[in-house]
Amino acid sequence: MQRLADEARLAGRRIGLVPTMGYLHEGHLSLIDEAKKRADVIVMSIYVNPTQFAAGEDLATYPRDLARDEKLAQGRGVDYIFAPSDKMMYPEKQLAFVEVERVSRLLEGEFRPTHFKGVTSVVAKLFNIMKPHVAVFGQKDAQQAFIIGKMVRDLNFDVEIVVAPIAREKDGLAMSSRNVYLSEKDRREATVLYRSLNLAGSLVGKGEIELVRVRSEMLKLITAESEGKIDYISFVDPENFERIEEVGSLPRVLALLAVRFGKTRLIDNMYLNAHGS
Ligand code: AMP
Repeated sequence: MQRLADEARLAGRRIGLVPTMGYLHEGHLSLIDEAKKRADVIVMSIYVNPTQFAAGEDLATYPRDLARDEKLAQGRGVDYIFAPSDKMMYPEKQLAFVEVERVSRLLEGEFRPTHFKGVTSVVAKLFNIMKPHVAVFGQKDAQQAFIIGKMVRDLNFDVEIVVAPIAREKDGLAMSSRNVYLSEKDRREATVLYRSLNLAGSLVGKGEIELVRVRSEMLKLITAESEGKIDYISFVDPENFERIEEVGSLPRVLALLAVRFGKTRLIDNMYLNAHGS
């Protein structure tokens, strides 16, 4: 893969990378479309990276189907699939890691304290292996996309980061490989996440500036319409990912939530445009 990347670069071709953990859905495939707009050679990595899972998380049961993924990715225009083994990615005990401080400890990081260190380190490795000019990530994992952007800026990685919008099912549920874990009842109830974010959007759009009130309306809706257990409902300034409690003078805020349905933990987010902006 490294040699292919070198050859493509030498031939003056732009390399676009789409990193994934596989079990592809339309959300992943939409990232390929974005990459194709910006690059000539599209590489998709499919790798369930063990270092971003903590003990007790779903590493062993994470859904996988490489043959199906290859068909879908190639059908959408991917030129190369990089699906390494753990031995290829971690041939010896790894001692060097990349960590983005502070933001990695908030929100998802409070519930998964070692997660983002695993993500940034494996993405740094993928960048060094594939040498992409551009890499596409999904807004679905808003905090991850922010953290990778910060890593790239702070450490002068020579790669453009593009963030693609969230692909949703017809009923609004954000697409996720983990949705297959949901029972029928949980799948039905999980649509409340999107509705709660829309509710937040309409409250802030109408001029609500106190985000505690927005949170409590979202919480009421989620608990009334589902048995989901809320890990967090938070609001951040999208520019720096600092938590905020008031809209203040920001043109928009980012609402993020994580809710557990049975053993399945779902995350979602939405930009809320402030009144008059
Ligand atoms: P994953 O395989 O879940 O690690 O996701 C790989 C990439 O696809 C990440 O950049 C995700 O943010 C992105 N992604 C996952 N689900 C969606 C979605 N519903 N819409 C857009 N991008 C997504």
